[in-house]
Amino acid sequence: MVKIEEYASIVGQPIIDDLKLLAGRLQGKVIQNINSTSVGGGVAEILSRMVPIMKELGVDTKWDLIKGGEQFFEVTKKFHNALHGKQEVIDQHDFDIFLETSKKNIEEVNIYGDIVFVHDPQPIALIKNKNANKWIWRCHIDVSEPDQKVWEFLMGFIINYDSAVFSAPSFSRKMPIRQFLISPSIDPLSDKNKELPQEVIDSVLRKYGILQDKPIITQISRFDRLKDPVGVIEAYQQVKKYNDCQLILAGGTAADDPEGIAVLEEAREKARQDPDIHILLLPQNDIEVNALQRASTVIMQKSIKEGFGLTVAEALWKAKPVVASGVGGIPLQVKHKYSGLLCHSIEGAAFAIKQLLNSPGYAKKLGENGREHIRNNFLLTRHLRDYMLLFLSLYYQEDIVYL
Ligand code: UDP
Repeated sequence: MVKIEEYASIVGQPIIDDLKLLAGRLQGKVIQNINSTSVGGGVAEILSRMVPIMKELGVDTKWDLIKGGEQFFEVTKKFHNALHGKQEVIDQHDFDIFLETSKKNIEEVNIYGDIVFVHDPQPIALIKNKNANKWIWRCHIDVSEPDQKVWEFLMGFIINYDSAVFSAPSFSRKMPIRQFLISPSIDPLSDKNKELPQEVIDSVLRKYGILQDKPIITQISRFDRLKDPVGVIEAYQQVKKYNDCQLILAGGTAADDPEGIAVLEEAREKARQDPDIHILLLPQNDIEVNALQRASTVIMQKSIKEGFGLTVAEALWKAKPVVASGVGGIPLQVKHKYSGLLCHSIEGAAFAIKQLLNSPGYAKKLGENGREHIRNNFLLTRHLRDYMLLFLSLYYQEDIVYL
């Protein structure tokens, strides 16, 4: 486990000193995080780094999971898609399944935190157990244009929380509780993001039979239609007519995402007969993700909808030129033509990739700017500071005017 002092060489000692000061103010408080999966996806990624480092700072921090069966996660995936504005057929039966599993979790999940920090919609109903403690709902989804039926259903729970947290200004909604804007972060010292020796990168490429004889374009994401793996292949195919290159489309599945296998098959079908397309079903292995990102010439994130998009921050931290859709939290990270290129279509993505492949100097500059942008805004240390300030603010609630 890394020590908090190790971050000083990356972000500066004053930031570490601030974190220690804030942690001292939280002595005696137990922070209980609750979500629905310990692996796969951005929320688990963040918690797996955030929780140990908060403990290291001396804050009593815990992480619990709710339980749910296949049907429950099918419903919550539909909620997820609908909150992102995708058309989904959701009826009373779906709400009943959600409420039934929630009832079991309300009975079974032990609530002991002074601050209960609930992540995303899956565990939202646990608020029924609220007593004198403080409850925060942390929304990682872009809910700027949600399906009204699902949003109103969730609002029935949200209004009982003390506060809600959103990742980007555009995600926030009108609501009668306090709202905070806190963007996610990556951990520069994790296996996912730390520097790697070239031998490790080479061995991961060897494992997957990938040669470094032509530029590598990569998207790492769960196999999810909102990540548009088929669109990534189409963009690559357009580029391939002009620039010889190869594509890595790599991802695992998340325990709370039942659609992964079907989407993987759609990508395999689309990629048929092109030996330069590598579709990899990854094990949960951070070093492999790190190595694939570092081996890449260009990294894509062609999402149709996105929460924050941690994969973008991971790529930029590795000083990689990024081509990403201007959706969700991605424009916070990719400032067009400064820290990467934003795209809004398959043709736009292909055009941007060609530009980067043909102008290595420009690509390098974008990557370098991207790394500094992440250092200044999206590292774990900034996130820890924001969360600890949020926790402390819960105890100072007077004179607030709600919008
Ligand atoms: N990830 C991973 N292995 C995979 C696919 C994704 O470790 O096979 C990680 C990825 O590196 C990132 C996180 O899962 O840290 C995904 O977060 P993001 O915000 O990009 O998307 P989400 O999956 O939460 O929609």
